[in-house]
Amino acid sequence: MKNVVVIGAGQAGCSVVTRLRGNGFDGSITLIGEEPVVPYQRPPLSKKYLQGEMERPRLFLRPEKYYFDNNIDIRLNQTVTAIDRDNRTVRCGENTHSYTDLVLATGAKPHRLPRASGGELQNVFCVRTLKDIDQMKPAFRPGARLLVIGGGYIGLEAAAVAAKTGLKVTLVEMAERILQRVAAKESSDYFRSLHKGHGVDIREGVGVTRLLGDTQVTGALLSDGSKLEADFVISGIGVAPATKLAEDAGLAIENGVRVDEFGRTSDANIWAAGDCASFPYQGSRVRLESVPNAIDQSECVADNVMGAEKEYEAKPWFWSDQYDVKLQIAGLNQGYDRVVSRTTDNVSKSFWYYQGERLLAVDALNAPRDYMVAKRLIESGKSPVPELVSNLETNLKALLQT
Ligand code: NAP
Repeated sequence: MKNVVVIGAGQAGCSVVTRLRGNGFDGSITLIGEEPVVPYQRPPLSKKYLQGEMERPRLFLRPEKYYFDNNIDIRLNQTVTAIDRDNRTVRCGENTHSYTDLVLATGAKPHRLPRASGGELQNVFCVRTLKDIDQMKPAFRPGARLLVIGGGYIGLEAAAVAAKTGLKVTLVEMAERILQRVAAKESSDYFRSLHKGHGVDIREGVGVTRLLGDTQVTGALLSDGSKLEADFVISGIGVAPATKLAEDAGLAIENGVRVDEFGRTSDANIWAAGDCASFPYQGSRVRLESVPNAIDQSECVADNVMGAEKEYEAKPWFWSDQYDVKLQIAGLNQGYDRVVSRTTDNVSKSFWYYQGERLLAVDALNAPRDYMVAKRLIESGKSPVPELVSNLETNLKALLQT
């Protein structure tokens, strides 16, 4: 009889166990998580939950009863400290759990500003866990001065909610432009102007040299020599895959836990999925930090634990909500050399990323039709001629027939 242990009770871990039971898996399942609560959705944390528009129980992916009813031994508030591959066990406090199949769904951990730069001062928050948001909530009140560090999606989404709530927001981004790591200049320009229009003071090409304050943060010294006052700070300066357990156990690591097309690590009895796993994708290797990937890859791993021998075919897509703008991204823009714009009006736009003649990805801003068409084109390996895309007279749907 198979005996599955899953380390990590986030979206990926939850998707593995629900898929296993959904498929009729009748072996034992143990799900171990460090946080004290059952798996929950992270995207609404810094939005509807923080704004009080979503109650805590609605965050949970499944009610606690689900795990009991489905004979899933869920162990919360527990940290796995070691994997013993020879004996196929994991150590967790005083307990040892044995496995026939182990799934690593350990996710990613936010980078933190170093202590020497004031990263440990009170009122400096990350956006990752329910606890982070619960701790931040009292500071999040109209009129408060918020400094957001980092102009990636975490920082921008937090800035949008804060500005809407009436906080005074300054966002600093060390790179030349916001979203530099993940999007084209066109998308950065769109979001810069959106945020400026909502009163956010965006400063690009500026890093935080040091946060100021004795015990509690009071401001920051920036790399251009200027000083800012702040009542609290949100740091959104990227994440790193949680690979320590895998590394200590001697598993292959390559920008995350290295898995093959089936989701298997370098040990045939150990699998990995979600933010912590890097996998083969179109001739290269990628690691995706997104909810859709966590779900799809975990389900594929669960099927393979049950012997399906299914290759994971990632269909990358992402979304971000800021003010009344919905950004939908299809594909991966890695390696693009040209961006083609399709501008319906000031709010609805899409940016199409090409490498040579090949369409790689599309950012659609309040343009759901562009997104739907682009996603289907990318998934079927079709690349429309760029001039057709930018021409508003082109019926996008017709491109699918070519
Ligand atoms: P991110 O995309 O890596 O962005 C962090 C930004 O902070 C980078 O532009 C980085 O600049 C900048 N930065 C780093 N240190 C800084 C400093 N000391 N001062 C000022 N700027 C600094 O990471 P993230 O926004 O924290 O998000 C974490 C992950 O979750 C990402 O993969 C993100 O895409 C994902 N996420 C996705 C969604 C979504 O799909 N809707 C929403 C939220 C988060 P450099 O690049 O120059 O270091």
